[in-house]
Amino acid sequence: LNRLRQGLDKTRLSLVNQLKAIVGQGPLSADSVDDIEALLLQADVGVKATDLIIAKLQEKLRKEVLPPEEAIAYLKQILREMLDVNNKGESPLPMLIPEKSQLNIWLITGVNGAGKTTTIGKLSHLSVKSGYKTLIAAADTFRAAAVEQVKSWGQRSNVDVICNPAQNADPAAVVFDAISAAQARGTELLLVDTAGRLQNKKNLMEELSKIRRIVDKKSAEAKIESLLVLDSTLGQNGLKQAEVFAQSAGITGVILTKLDGTAKGGVAIAVVQQLGLPIRFIGAGEGIEDLRPFSSYEFVEALLS
Ligand code: GDP
Repeated sequence: LNRLRQGLDKTRLSLVNQLKAIVGQGPLSADSVDDIEALLLQADVGVKATDLIIAKLQEKLRKEVLPPEEAIAYLKQILREMLDVNNKGESPLPMLIPEKSQLNIWLITGVNGAGKTTTIGKLSHLSVKSGYKTLIAAADTFRAAAVEQVKSWGQRSNVDVICNPAQNADPAAVVFDAISAAQARGTELLLVDTAGRLQNKKNLMEELSKIRRIVDKKSAEAKIESLLVLDSTLGQNGLKQAEVFAQSAGITGVILTKLDGTAKGGVAIAVVQQLGLPIRFIGAGEGIEDLRPFSSYEFVEALLS
């Protein structure tokens, strides 16, 4: 938790400490509401989520004077609820954990530079550490360097990488081979790296759809997740890219990266509220250990404690 807390330093120092000071100081004045609104927008929480947070704060804090600790606890509860898609406030969304003794296939998508390859390296490390038989498919065959990069992460986490060294090899064929290998070896988690060149949107989306079809057809019994890697430093701009992917790749969740490099950690709330997608993992550093399964409880504690 300390490591996560450090990773979120920038967001905490610029947003959360001020928010905490305002909310903890007594009944909300119109000025305080303006200040809170400005802070939230600055952290890229987004207009919709900001309005919701303010409405909830006002509902409770306009008339009542709560002791600061209670006001902060109330703020934490609001943020937790907003970070849990489908959550009605009772219990948080369970973490995403691959099912043991069966094949789980996680398609990892996202725009180049978002941190996709690094995240695959971190995920495979986490997976091996957690005792899963793990395999990686290098299906970003468009960038020559991508396959090499994935292979080097595979070496670091001790996981085999299925690839076709030919430049521009058919990504769907690589995925097909990888699923065959996974089925033969009793693999429990197959991580699939995919291309992310947004300049050629139409081809990219067709490629992702084709990979998806191969996965569905060849491995009907597998549990499939399609996870979008999103660079949190892009803030609201990243969400526009996310919408493009969400339309064609059947995204089931988001991995937020680079939370250590930004004060825009509020984008986590925007992902849930604007895209309606759960956050599954967060990256807060370049090292192999710097990835955590997402827990709204832990995230809010790291921000507000
Ligand atoms: P890809 O093009 O999407 O595969 O992106 P890469 O995995 O190559 O990452 C692009 C850059 O972002 C690299 O320099 C990574 O070290 C860096 N990066 C990835 N994740 C994180 C993170 O959580 N925090 C920080 N600070 N940097 C990251």
